[in-house]
Order: sequence, then C-alpha cells, then structure tokens
Amino acid sequence: MSRSNAGLIGRRALLGGLVAAPVVLQFGLARAADAYLFPLGVASGDPAPDGFVIWTRLAADPFAADGLGGLSGTIETRWEVAADEGFRRIVAAGQVQADPRAAHAVHVEVTGLAPGRPYWYRFTAGGQQSPAGLSRTTPAPGAHVDRLRLAVASCSNWEAGYFSAYGHMADETPDLTLFLGDYIYEYSASGERAAKAVRRYGLEEATTLAGYRNRYALHRTDADLQRLHAAAPCLAVWDDHEVLNNYSGVWPDKGGDPRPFLQRRAAGYQAFYEAMPIRRTSLDARMQMQIHKHIRYGRLAEFHMLDGRQYRSRGACVDEGGARGQIVTDAACADRLDPARTFLGFEQERWLYEGLARSDAAWNILGQDLVMAGLRFENRGEDIRYWTDTWDGYPAARDRMTEALATLKPRNPVVLSGDYHSFWTNDVKRDSRDERSATVATEFVGTSITSGGPPYEGLMSAMPANPHIKFFDSRVRGYMSIDVTPKRMITRYQTISGVRDPKATLATLNTWAVEDGRPGALAA
Ligand code: FE
Ligand code: CA
Repeated sequence: MSRSNAGLIGRRALLGGLVAAPVVLQFGLARAADAYLFPLGVASGDPAPDGFVIWTRLAADPFAADGLGGLSGTIETRWEVAADEGFRRIVAAGQVQADPRAAHAVHVEVTGLAPGRPYWYRFTAGGQQSPAGLSRTTPAPGAHVDRLRLAVASCSNWEAGYFSAYGHMADETPDLTLFLGDYIYEYSASGERAAKAVRRYGLEEATTLAGYRNRYALHRTDADLQRLHAAAPCLAVWDDHEVLNNYSGVWPDKGGDPRPFLQRRAAGYQAFYEAMPIRRTSLDARMQMQIHKHIRYGRLAEFHMLDGRQYRSRGACVDEGGARGQIVTDAACADRLDPARTFLGFEQERWLYEGLARSDAAWNILGQDLVMAGLRFENRGEDIRYWTDTWDGYPAARDRMTEALATLKPRNPVVLSGDYHSFWTNDVKRDSRDERSATVATEFVGTSITSGGPPYEGLMSAMPANPHIKFFDSRVRGYMSIDVTPKRMITRYQTISGVRDPKATLATLNTWAVEDGRPGALAA
C-alpha cells in the first residue's frame, strides 16, 4: 500500500470518529498483505525480579515523513511470554492497542514471573508475528549470584560505520546490555564528511518528533542491533546526541534561548521513550522526563543509571566562546568552579546518594554518559585547560560525588561511562586536583560502536599530567564486556577490525581486573 492510500485511510478513520475501530482493524489486515509490521524488531529492558519491559514498534513504512511509520489508527497487538524457546509454555500474555500517539510503539511491563531466569517473548498484529526475543528477570533481591555478564555500548553513529560491534555483543550472550548514550546522532554529515560516510542517513537533521522517531527507526532496521536487543534485556540512558550536540540542561550548545530548545528537547525525549524498552515515563509540567533509576541484581550488584544531561547547569563560560566547550584555565573561567552549579541536578544527586547509602550490593555500578575522572590538559608553561562538557566542567558537583563515595562507602563503586569515543581506565580520586588523594571508585570508559575517536597523539600528550588515567586509546571502535563475580570484576576492551566492514572481526585489546574491596583496576 502506498503512503497516499495510508493517508486516505487515516482520514477515513478520523471521519469515522467513534466507529473508527473497525476501519482501523480492516486497515491493519489490509496492510498484512504487502508490508511486514515488525521491521524494527523487538527489545526488552528494565528487568526486575518479577518481570521486565517488552517492546516493539509496528511500522509498514518505517521512515514515513510524518514519523508514523506508514500506519494510522490503533492496531490491536497480542504479546506472549514463554518459559521456553519454542513457546510451548506460555506464562503471560495479553492484548494492547498500538497507538499512533506513540507512533505504534508498544511497551508492556510484564509482571508475575519468577526471578533470575530467562524468558522468551513475541508479538502478533495484523495476522503477523514478530521475531522472538530473549529476556531475563533479575535474581531475587537476597539471592547470592555467582556471575553476571554485561555488554556495554555507547556512541553508534550510523554514518560512521556498520554496527558489527553490536552483533559481537549479541554473540557474547550477556545477561544485561548497557547503552550509555549517543544511541543515535541528531545530525547528518555534510560536505567532505558526507562523502566519507560509510552509509548515509538519507534523513534531514532531527529537530522534530518525526525526525527523531525516524532516526531510531533507521537504527532498529540494522540486523546487528536488532539481534542484540533480541538477545538480552538492556538498561539505557541518553547523552547529548539523542537531542543536540553538547547541550546542557535547558540550554542548547551555544547557550542560546532555552525556550525553542525545550520544544526540541521534549521531542527528542519523547522519541527516546518510544524507542527504548524502558518503564513508563513521560514529560512532566517542566518538560522533564525522568530516566535515572536503580536496578538491583540480587546481592551481587546494584546499577545506578544516571542522567548527566537533562538537569545540569548551563555550560561554563559558553558565551565566551572557546573551542566548543573547551576553556582555558580557571583564571579565564571562574564560573566553572561555582558550587551552585550541578551536573546531575540537585534532586538526582540526593536520590543517588540515598541509593548509595542504602545499597548492600557487592558491586555498585554507576552507568552514566560522561567521563567522571578529571583530565588536565597541561602543556609547557601554559595554564591548565579543561574540557567542560564532561564532569570536568562541573568540578564542585564532582567533589560532592567523590565525597559521597568516600563517606557513604558503598561497596566497590565502579563507574561505566561513554561519550568520549575512546577506552580509558581511571582511578576516580577523592580530590581530582590531588593525585595522592584516595581512589574512591574505578572508572571504565568504553569506546564507540562506530563514532570517530578524538586525536590520539593530542590526548596522549596530556596523559603524563594525569597518572590516575592508567590507560587510554581512541584509535579503536568496539565495546566493553564485563564479568562480575562476588570477588572480582573482569573488564575486557573488545575491538572490531573496522567500521567499513559489515562483518568486522573481534579482538580483545586488553583486560582489567578490579578486586573486591580495592578500588582501582589492575591489568589482568
Ligand atoms: Fe558520541
Ligand atoms: Ca556525547
């Protein structure tokens, strides 16, 4: 069916008013003849001991300009959760209406399941069946858990390359996948960069709900990413490119008028919710949408998933210009040091510290978007410079965080970060200005799935002034594979052979161990 026919039926459904439902059903059936309704696959996430979220989004024409996937009207969708891969033992099932107000995205919060075990799920609509996905409940809160395998991703720029790293993540059969931001990029390459693009978006820069929806839809047509989502539940937080490069709270990158930007941000957030298998959340009266959460994994681990974009203060000294957020010296920018500035927002800070104080898990994993350990750019004779888009732009907020870790003493805090398109192994210091101060957390920064890394030589020349950064490499693409056991966490830096090869091979760059009770990673 062509898009104009779909539009006609949409108008008919609208004119039909209260009797729209049968027309819609007819439409759904009519579609079945010539379009597969599940081109975007399935996903699951936000696991709990008794269930998880299962997700799909129906579409006939996934990149339709209106962002509605070539469908109109509600479409009845059946979901099933089974205890076995062959769907012989269905343990939960139901019907939902896929609604055009959510672009026919379906989120089911499944409950009543048993803890700590795998389940399989699938959807049916318009006489068609979705692919099946594998999900898992978390162990019971008091359960002793021997092992947890994580796969951790960030920064998948469609134009920068193929998502073979996502495929390799799926092959590792993780218990849980973490997405730490820049799951999409809002812009499209232009000029010389466009000529170098491995594959094009074929979409305009996303600024509207339809634009953001279509970016997510395009990503979800990728076979490797579909396979990863179908292989394990995930926890997802966003970074800047889910909305706009380097934005900060309600302020766009260059510190302009927040009002039009808030509309754009709301569109990006709504599309994120619709596209991700996360529990119900919505824009509130302040046009905010909460995505931070605690997820417990038996006695072994607690995940504190953080939002480092939405609530933060305006970027330091953005009006003074500088190289897109990188500023020169404290002398030139006293604003950076203002203790009234916040990175997580004061509400999220309090929520986090309360969670850390309460946690009795063996490992406290902070999943978040931006590098937490400090990075001093210190060249001969010059004053120290900082990149202000990361925690380095908010040193007072970082001091509150490191003081909380030092005084609340949650067991084994490990920070997992994205954004920087490079691997880093860091000691997070109680006082980022003092290398001799105590290490209060271990940090692993994962490189990008595809996005190009920052200049290697330039960054390496800064490393002698940063001995708390034990390893850095921006030349490789890939992800982190982590095995958590009660006594040890093993982190592997997994790299792909190249972004231009859709069947890139995998190698382990190096491996790190964190021992129970001893912050700071050691080469394993
Ligand atoms: Fe990125
Ligand atoms: Ca980013």
